[in-house]
Amino acid sequence: MTTAVDAAEQHTLAGDLEAAARIGAVDGGGISRFAWTPELVEVTQRVAAELERLGLAVETDAAGNMIGRWPAPPGPAVMAASHLDTVPRGGPLDGVLGVLGAVEAVRILRREGFEPKRPIWIGSFMDEEGSRFGTALFGSRAFCGDDVSAALDARDPDGICVRDAMRAQGFDPARIGDAERVDDVGAYVELHIEQGPVLDSRGERLGVVEAICGVLGYRVVVHGEANHAGTTPSELRRDALVGASRIVLALRERAASRPDLSATVGRIRALPGATNVIPGRCEFTVDLRAATADAFAGARAWFADMVSAVVADEALEATVECDYAVPPTPMAPQVIEAFEAAALAEGIEPVRMASGAGHDAMNVGRRAPAGMIFVPSRGGISHSPQEWTATEDCELGARVLASTLRRLAS
Ligand SMILES: [Zn+2]
Repeated sequence: MTTAVDAAEQHTLAGDLEAAARIGAVDGGGISRFAWTPELVEVTQRVAAELERLGLAVETDAAGNMIGRWPAPPGPAVMAASHLDTVPRGGPLDGVLGVLGAVEAVRILRREGFEPKRPIWIGSFMDEEGSRFGTALFGSRAFCGDDVSAALDARDPDGICVRDAMRAQGFDPARIGDAERVDDVGAYVELHIEQGPVLDSRGERLGVVEAICGVLGYRVVVHGEANHAGTTPSELRRDALVGASRIVLALRERAASRPDLSATVGRIRALPGATNVIPGRCEFTVDLRAATADAFAGARAWFADMVSAVVADEALEATVECDYAVPPTPMAPQVIEAFEAAALAEGIEPVRMASGAGHDAMNVGRRAPAGMIFVPSRGGISHSPQEWTATEDCELGARVLASTLRRLAS
């Protein structure tokens, strides 16, 4: 019988995943490993030690990103990375599979005696999830030279700011600019669980990402008139919640008719919020995601027009504030092709798809040729202790990653 500890010492992907899942495991299920915490340090050090054992030179940059460099002739690096932090009570694979799959890819290439013609970097980006400070994608943003100074002032629920959390671990927030290294990257690859039901429901084993969806985030307030629930006839009401409901349904209809668009109202509040008062005000959020630049621009224009039409028809008014508008990130054709060739060599016909979720590849992909592959998430579940992918699929992902690294670094 193989115990969990034995498995971890065998230097296998399954063993590494099992060992990582014990770090930050919480009572009652799930894993909590947040930015700038001892749990994240512990798992990162464990991965760094394995990369060093494999002959890579490991460094932690000024933003807390861990990068292992395989010595090779100079040139633009081929980088495989993801993240080791989790959401609260997260699962064992989101992000972690990308990092440990890249470690497994190095093991495979080492066994083959591969000698890269250009540097191979294996990375783990700091704080992809943003669970503790709301500063998602912090590490990859700093790596890409984005201004993350505002994020340094963000505070966790205990009132600790990123700056202080960094200092407590010996980092100097003033040096954050030193983390910008994206210009040294010639190609970026990331293995991830799908976090959606597409591959699993179709019985497919591998997806190649064509684009990471752009996201439009709105805060909408519909203004009507609060009045008595019993005495105001229907035709004289200016019910803000009715207007908001029509907007919600219009969003659903639009998204249902377009495969490249999704729309979600995740938070809604009717005011004053009494059982016997017509809502005079309704506040809600809208999350619109589109895979292509055309769909993104189209959704933006349509949304504004649709809200105006609905509120006019209901004799209401609305204010719409756009909190963020991050355009879609197309993945690089040469990386997509390298992934597809690698998958076919494994006897797998991969499916091309869009990523509805954001990833570090979204930041790197704006500055360097990038690509991603997905393996199936059972039941489409992620960000949950129930998150699961068959070991054979995790291993397939690592083999395809290895073969892709070989192709790109030859
Ligand atoms: Zn992730």
